[in-house]
Amino acid sequence: VRHLMVVFGDQLNLNSAIWDDIDPDRDLAWMAEVTDESTRTWSHKVRIAVFLSAMRHFHEALEQNGIRVRYQLLDDDAEANTLLDCLAVSIKKEKPERVVAVEPGEWWLRQGLIELCDELTVPLDLLPDRHFMCTHDEFEQHAKGRKQLRMEYFYREMRKRYEVLLDDGEPEGGDWNYDSSNRKSFGKSGPGKLPAPRTFKPDKITQQVCKHIEALFPDHPGNLEHFDWPVTAEQAEQALRDFIKHRLPDFGDHQDAMWTDEPWLYHSRISAAMNLKLLDPRDVIKAAEQAYRAGDAPLNSVEGFIRQVLGWREYVRGVYWLHMPGYLERNAMSARQPLPEFYWTGETEMYCLSQAIGQTLEYGYAHHIQRLMVTGLFALLLGVDPHQVHQWYLAVYVDAVEWVEAPNTIGMSQYADEGVMASKPYVASGKYIKRMSNYCQQCVFDPDQAVGEQACPFTTLYWDYLNRNEKQLSSNRRMTLQLRNLEKKSDKDLSEIKKQAEAWRAELSDQH
Ligand code: FAD
Ligand code: SF4
Repeated sequence: VRHLMVVFGDQLNLNSAIWDDIDPDRDLAWMAEVTDESTRTWSHKVRIAVFLSAMRHFHEALEQNGIRVRYQLLDDDAEANTLLDCLAVSIKKEKPERVVAVEPGEWWLRQGLIELCDELTVPLDLLPDRHFMCTHDEFEQHAKGRKQLRMEYFYREMRKRYEVLLDDGEPEGGDWNYDSSNRKSFGKSGPGKLPAPRTFKPDKITQQVCKHIEALFPDHPGNLEHFDWPVTAEQAEQALRDFIKHRLPDFGDHQDAMWTDEPWLYHSRISAAMNLKLLDPRDVIKAAEQAYRAGDAPLNSVEGFIRQVLGWREYVRGVYWLHMPGYLERNAMSARQPLPEFYWTGETEMYCLSQAIGQTLEYGYAHHIQRLMVTGLFALLLGVDPHQVHQWYLAVYVDAVEWVEAPNTIGMSQYADEGVMASKPYVASGKYIKRMSNYCQQCVFDPDQAVGEQACPFTTLYWDYLNRNEKQLSSNRRMTLQLRNLEKKSDKDLSEIKKQAEAWRAELSDQH
């Protein structure tokens, strides 16, 4: 074998640099399914199924393209159970002249691959991942000399560089940001009839994968009954087209809204397909911009959506690589509480949490505001150890891969990096959830009350969070308003809030 071409499970890209210089007669592609990838993080069954099914379909696509593949199945009598041990076995067997790989998305895997090839004295060619629109060097360049990174400035640079939504070099419509138009709730009447997203019935390959998962990981969280995610590049493209046509026009207005038993609303459901590299972000952005230019979708929706893909997605990757290793251990607020047991069952009287966690366990999906302002917010206010929160998010979502999950969880939602990702902690009381959803109407608690039997735990813990962390937060100018409101509370109120918050903490750690 001339080149052993390593393809990891989230590198399912027929246009990647690894295929530029292939010699089908002398090169061998290498892919492996290993149990460690599903058990190291106690993964949701649907997350495992998306990865494995997409990998098996990609294996087929490679062979159809005349590429020879050494593919290890999960149920093979494996000589090794981790990716790198498995690769070591293949390198020893095949004795390639070189190992070629696109740089892994995960810091640990990149490091491990370099060390393995070093140990086995085989040359390694690590190629840049062309899927992304900002390279590591470019992000470092952007970060250089800045005391504090801000997504907004990075995003504007990316818009200019790729000439996205520009009008003669200026932002389309005159503003870079339409966030203020994108925070509408569904009001009292609710979302009405929503356009159901395009779904994909499991084919034979997916059915087989699901069977293996049930046999091998019966106790893992999640439910495979409703599996309908795209697992090939063609399906991912269809999912994108369906979103652009039917949901993008309303995406902006209701981006942050939540509603009982409506997991998808106007969201795209393409994160997993993009993270596996079945979809190119350039195509996603182009399709959204075209819809705007054709008059099929308004600017606030299209800009709001493009901001997520060209802005946030590339930005979090930059932050991850800039701050690894070490980022995963951050705990700036010294949070030590265990993750409540109900995160794994959805069984809690707090209706918003039972909805967000319930649909997560059912489908492996919750949209951004549910992740940030329901499950993430509760863990932040309660003071949960950010590493445990990180482990949970990595386990339960179909789109979970470390480079995107970790900055979103440890940084944006838990503020454990003290401002690398977000300029202030995303903290709010139950009143925010009341404003953005109908959850509170069905809850035993009252979001307007901070103490007493009916007090909403979010509201109690919000004031307690500000009170506990007042000193640390007071140097942050963006917290001034919230801290000024805290000062208006009497000592008696604050002492009752503290007592009630401590009772919640004690109860939830006892259940753990
Ligand atoms: P849409 O709402 O339709 O958005 C469109 C696309 O924009 C998404 O598909 C995604 O690729 C991108 N995007 C949106 N927000 C972000 C963001 N904050 N960071 C990066 N990309 C973004 N996203 C993941 O892909 N994997 C994760 O493991 C992940 N973990 C998260 C953990 C927490 C605590 C939070 C707050 C957010 C996390 N996100 C993660 C970001 C975001 O919630 C998901 O990308 C989004 O909900 C996926 O659903 P969708 O495809 O319907 O997205
Ligand atoms: Fe959630 Fe509090 Fe509203 Fe209940 S009252 S749904 S706990 S925010």
